[in-house]
Amino acid sequence: MVAGNWKMNTTVPEGVALARAVLERCGAETAVEVAVLPPFVHLWAVREAIAASRLLLGAQDVYWEESGAFTGEVSPRMIAGLCDLVLVGHSERRHLLGETDEQTGRKFAAARRHGLGVIVAVGETASERDDGSAVAIVDRQLDAVLAAAHRAPSPDDWVVAYEPVWAIGTGRTATPEQAQDVCAHIREHLTALAGASPRVLYGGSVGADNAAELFACPDIDGGLIGGASLKPDVFATIVAAAVTAGAAR
Ligand code: PEP
Repeated sequence: MVAGNWKMNTTVPEGVALARAVLERCGAETAVEVAVLPPFVHLWAVREAIAASRLLLGAQDVYWEESGAFTGEVSPRMIAGLCDLVLVGHSERRHLLGETDEQTGRKFAAARRHGLGVIVAVGETASERDDGSAVAIVDRQLDAVLAAAHRAPSPDDWVVAYEPVWAIGTGRTATPEQAQDVCAHIREHLTALAGASPRVLYGGSVGADNAAELFACPDIDGGLIGGASLKPDVFATIVAAAVTAGAAR
């Protein structure tokens, strides 16, 4: 899977144009799932722009309640039927907006109750990597998700994105070895706890120049792409790298 997280970028008309550009370049892709994650206000228009294509549509976040007095929030009930999937636990939500592991778990469970696929983002900060606790942090974040789920989620229903916080939007990508080590650990950890692991993506400054070597790693099943997902030609090159890596397995 290659998923483009547009973050808080583009107006609705710009987003529709971007979705059309991605559709033109990646819409016929069958070997790799390609998803776009525009801002909430774009979802309806982008859904129409990519209708009847293989592209998946995702939301960047979701709240855990069904409805009620939660000003500004969007519930899974509102996006089920419109979106195929939703991203929870992105580091910008955890670190800029103070979202906890427990809240991320509740979001996961709520999204699953509505049949949405979920991308769960996990990853350590620079200081956590420096003090040797990267893997423990990732385990803690994943364990909170499993604890919130009523039963072990099927590997087809979710995807984990390993995104070291120090690599997001910084241009400082994890080396393939660093990314592979943690992604392999995630797979083992989830297999031990839940009986099976979902796909594991890497995210953090993935671009046209480094996608191939990252996706060639045996435990990296694709990428969650931020900045580069706003450039359709670069995004298409990243998708092509995933296709090549998949074919070589
Ligand atoms: C992200 O936002 O999930 C991300 C990986 O961003 P970037 O590719 O810009 O580092």
